[in-house]
Order: sequence, then structure tokens, then C-alpha cells
Amino acid sequence: MASMRCKCGEHLRDDDPEWTLTVFRFGEFDVDEESADLLSRSTDIWRCRNCDRLWAFWQRGSGVVPVEYVNPLKTPIATSVEGTTEESGAS
Ligand SMILES: [Zn+2]
Repeated sequence: MASMRCKCGEHLRDDDPEWTLTVFRFGEFDVDEESADLLSRSTDIWRCRNCDRLWAFWQRGSGVVPVEYVNPLKTPIATSVEGTTEESGAS
């Protein structure tokens, strides 16, 4: 498990199921490929639950410094593992 401190002081880690994103470049995504091979080309993005900064690891390997992206609103968007949100649905 990898971890780091966000600039706000929050402890971030790569195995947080709600706040760690695995993204793929559209041109590299292949549903027929083995998941391990596909994940080896993914980009990890860690999201801070406190300040909503995103930390993108555009390169792989040890010593890679993540790129910081700041949400100008500084308010985390609500997420839920259970799929329950405050939204009312169809009107
Ligand atoms: Zn933060």
C-alpha cells in the first residue's frame, strides 16, 4: 500500500475504495484484455476527502511525483458506496 499526505494534511492511500480512481486513456482501453495487463497501463488518481484535491500519477514507478489539481470550489462532491445519494431521481 502506498500513501502520502495531501497539502491539507489528510492522509491519502492507494487502496481507499471510495477515493482512489483508476483511469484509462480511451485509446488504450480494451475490454478483451486481461485485467492485470490493462491495469498496468492505467493512471492512478487519488482524491482527497477533505479538500477535494486530485493527485494524478501520470507516470508509473518509484519516485514519481503526482501532479496536483485543485478544485476551486474546495467542496468535495458527495459519494456513496451504497449508491444512495441526496438526489431525488426522476421528476
Ligand atoms: Zn487535501
